[in-house]
Amino acid sequence: MYLRLTDEQKMVQETIRKFVEKELIPLENEVLRNEIEGKPSISAEKQKELQLKAKKAGFWGINTPEEYGGADLGQLMQAIVAMEVSKTFVPFRFGGSADNILYYGNDKQKEKYLIPTINGDKISCFAMTEPGAGSDTRNIKMTAVKDGDEWVLNGEKTFITGGNEADFVMVIAITDKEAHERTGRDGVTCFIVDRDMGWKSEYIHTMGEWGPAALVFDDVRVPEENILGELHGGYNLGLEWIGFARWIVGARAVGMAERLLQMAIDYAKERKTFGKPIADRQAIQWQIADSAVEIEAARWLVLNAAFTLDQGEDNRHLASIAKLYGANMGNNVVDRVLQIHGGMGYTRELPIERWYREARLWRIYDGTDEIQRLIISRNLIKGHVKIGQFV
Ligand SMILES: Cc1cc2nc3c(=O)[nH]c(=O)nc-3n(C[C@H](O)[C@H](O)[C@H](O)COP(=O)(O)OP(=O)(O)OC[C@H]3O[C@@H](n4cnc5c(N)ncnc54)[C@H](O)[C@@H]3O)c2cc1C
Repeated sequence: MYLRLTDEQKMVQETIRKFVEKELIPLENEVLRNEIEGKPSISAEKQKELQLKAKKAGFWGINTPEEYGGADLGQLMQAIVAMEVSKTFVPFRFGGSADNILYYGNDKQKEKYLIPTINGDKISCFAMTEPGAGSDTRNIKMTAVKDGDEWVLNGEKTFITGGNEADFVMVIAITDKEAHERTGRDGVTCFIVDRDMGWKSEYIHTMGEWGPAALVFDDVRVPEENILGELHGGYNLGLEWIGFARWIVGARAVGMAERLLQMAIDYAKERKTFGKPIADRQAIQWQIADSAVEIEAARWLVLNAAFTLDQGEDNRHLASIAKLYGANMGNNVVDRVLQIHGGMGYTRELPIERWYREARLWRIYDGTDEIQRLIISRNLIKGHVKIGQFV
C-alpha cells in the first residue's frame, strides 16, 4: 500500500491547479456580478473558449475512451482533477465528454448523438425525476405507447439539469404498465428524444447557479429507432446515469472546502477583536481543526471510491459513503468559514455565500443524504458488503 500520489498524478494535479488559478479564478467576480444581474454566470462562448484552452493543456474528454478521441484518465485521476477544478465556483466543464449511458447506443445512435455530444456540437440531458417521483424512481408516471413504428410519449419531468439548453433528452418512460406495476423496475424504457420532436422546457429558479428545467411531453412522437439500450431495460440505465457522478460530488466538496478553509485561516490571522487576532481564540481554532479533519476524511473516502472502480470492482457502496460524507463535510465547512468571517461572510462581497448556496444541493441530488444512508445500511444488513471489506 502506498498512500501518496504518483509523479504523474502530481503533474496532472499541478497542471490543473495552474489552469484554475490562471483561467478560472480571475472570472469569479464576473460570475458573481452576472448572477446578481440575473444573467447566465458564464456565456456559452466563454465556456467553449475555456474548454479549448484546457484542451491545449491536454484536458479533453477526461472520462472519454481513447477510441472516441478522449484522454480516458481513469477514476482516480478524475477525482484529483475534480478536487482542483472545484477550488473555484466558476462553472467550468471540460469539453469532449458525453453521458455514460450514451455509449449503450447502437452505431447509428452513436453517430447521431454520442459523437456530436463529445464534439460539443450537441447538448444532452437526462430525465428520470418527475413531480411525483424523485427518490422513489419507481413511481414515475410518464408513458410511452406504441403507435405503428413510433412511440407516443406523455408526461412531465422536473429538475432536469441542462434541460433548458439541451438539443436532446434521454428520458425514462413506462412502456409496459403491468410489468411496471408489478415490480416498479420493469417495463420502463429510455428514449432519445430530440427537442424538435416536440417536448417543451421551462426554467426552474433555484437558490443555486444551476437553473434546471421542467419538461413537458404532450403526444411527442418518437421513432422506434430512438430507444436507447433494450426495450423495457430503461431502469438500470437510469440508475447507472444517476450513480455515475455520485462520488464526484465528494471530490467537489473537498476542492471547495480546501479553498474556503485557507480563506478562513488567512482571515482569522488578520481580523482582530478585543486586541487579538481571532486566530488566537480557541473557538476559532477548533472550527479550523474540525474542518481540516473532515476534509482529510472526505479526501480518502473519495480516492478510495475512485481507486476501487479503477480496479474493476463494484464501488457503489463506497460511492454512497463518499457522497454522503463529502456533501455533509462541504456544508459543515462552508458554514464554519462563513461564521469565522462574521458579517462579511454573509455579504456578496465575498464568494462564501455563493458556495453556501451551491453546497446545499450536494445533499439532495444524485440521491439525497437519506437515500445514501438507506443504500449503505441495506448493503450491510443484507450482507451485500462486509464492514471493512474495501482495504
Ligand atoms: C438542481 C437539481 C438538479 C437535478 N438534476 C436532475 C437531472 O438532471 N435528472 C433527473 O432525473 N433528476 C435531477 N434532479 C432530481 C433529484 O435527483 C431529486 O430532486 C432527488 O432525487 C430527490 O427527489 P425529490 O426532490 O423528489 O425529493 P423526495 O424524494 O420527495 O424526498 C423528500 C425528502 O424525503 C426524504 N426521503 C425520501 N424517501 C425516503 C425514505 N425512504 N427514507 C427516508 N427519507 C426519505 C428525502 O431524502 C428528502 O429529504 C435534480 C435536482 C435538483 C435540485
